[in-house]
Amino acid sequence: METAQVDWSSSLKTKPTYEDLEIRIHDLEKEIKECKKCSEGSHKSDILLSQILQGTFIPTFVIDGRRIITHWNKALENLTGFSAAEMIGTRNHWRVLYPSERPLMADLVVGKASEDTIARYYEGKFRKSATLEAAYEVEDYFPELGRWLLFTASPLTDGNGGIIGAIETLQDITEQKRAEEELRQSEQRYREMSITDSLTKLYNSRHFFRQLGNEVERAKRYGFPLSLILLDIDDFKRYNDSYGHLEGDDVLKALSNVIRKNLRTSDSAFRYGGEEFTILLPETESENAFIAAERLRKDFENLVLSPSLGVEEHMSVSIGVSRYIPGEQPSTFLKRVDEAMYKAKKQGKNCVLLAPCRRGE
Ligand code: GH3
Ligand code: MG
Ligand code: MG
Repeated sequence: METAQVDWSSSLKTKPTYEDLEIRIHDLEKEIKECKKCSEGSHKSDILLSQILQGTFIPTFVIDGRRIITHWNKALENLTGFSAAEMIGTRNHWRVLYPSERPLMADLVVGKASEDTIARYYEGKFRKSATLEAAYEVEDYFPELGRWLLFTASPLTDGNGGIIGAIETLQDITEQKRAEEELRQSEQRYREMSITDSLTKLYNSRHFFRQLGNEVERAKRYGFPLSLILLDIDDFKRYNDSYGHLEGDDVLKALSNVIRKNLRTSDSAFRYGGEEFTILLPETESENAFIAAERLRKDFENLVLSPSLGVEEHMSVSIGVSRYIPGEQPSTFLKRVDEAMYKAKKQGKNCVLLAPCRRGE
């Protein structure tokens, strides 16, 4: 079968005609024009990129595929104190943030580092960009600069998706972090205030009811014992009437200190009412709660109060103790300890009484 094969050897041997040469020259001219256009285009886009970077208020630098800095904008000069003149053409970008050489996020992006590798450098501080492919964001504190920085790094790619560099932005978010911290602290203060009794600094009754519910739930779920103590100052009205309300307030504070001193870390104490206090004792059997209550009673009884110059007073408390009966309502649990406390009052005050448990305890 005949094929239309070109005999290149013969064509090489034959002398090109004037016409052939004209066509070839025309082709070459076209190629040169396109090439020129292309390189002009890339030069133009490079100038454009430089202008965009210079024009942005966000401190930014660019590295190429060999991790050499190609752009370093004015905003970054202002943030870091390192000038574009000294940085461009080097791999010194690490100097801005770290005392010794290590990769920045842009280097990791150019090196297509795995997330495990990124985590080695930015553990718990980085996240993948929500909008850009293969881009990352990091928030970190830099003690050398005394600043918080948010930096983002994303790859620069050629038309085929190959990484030819990376662009990294660094933003000083110190003020924002400070404001966030202040807000967090004031929220924390507000939260504490909302659950604290201002006179005694113990938790307030609102918090008591919430914690009572929580602890009852925990006791039910895990089968832990849970005990509750209720204290009421004896003859407090008399004290107030004799020495005044402010002196009465000092007694409330003094009793609160006695309670605080006797608490384990797992226990919590509350000002339940005017001169009534509750203590929740998780994972505590009633025998141990009784011992704790008795210790409290004695400590308070022994406390010397001096409502006016040269006067020494002693006050006492009546205490009820109860242990949670699995399945009972928090209100019933509270009612039983209240009854025990009133019984203690009836029995002559300044004593501790254990509430009976209906299910044979
Ligand atoms: P009992 O031994 O039966 O408990 O008698 P009591 O006098 O302690 O009890 P009563 O309920 O008759 O009086 C309680 C007193 O507590 C009356 C009230 O003025 C006083 N009180 C309540 N809250 C405060 C407070 O915040 N500060 C002061 N100083 N007194 C308070
Ligand atoms: Mg009372
Ligand atoms: Mg009282």
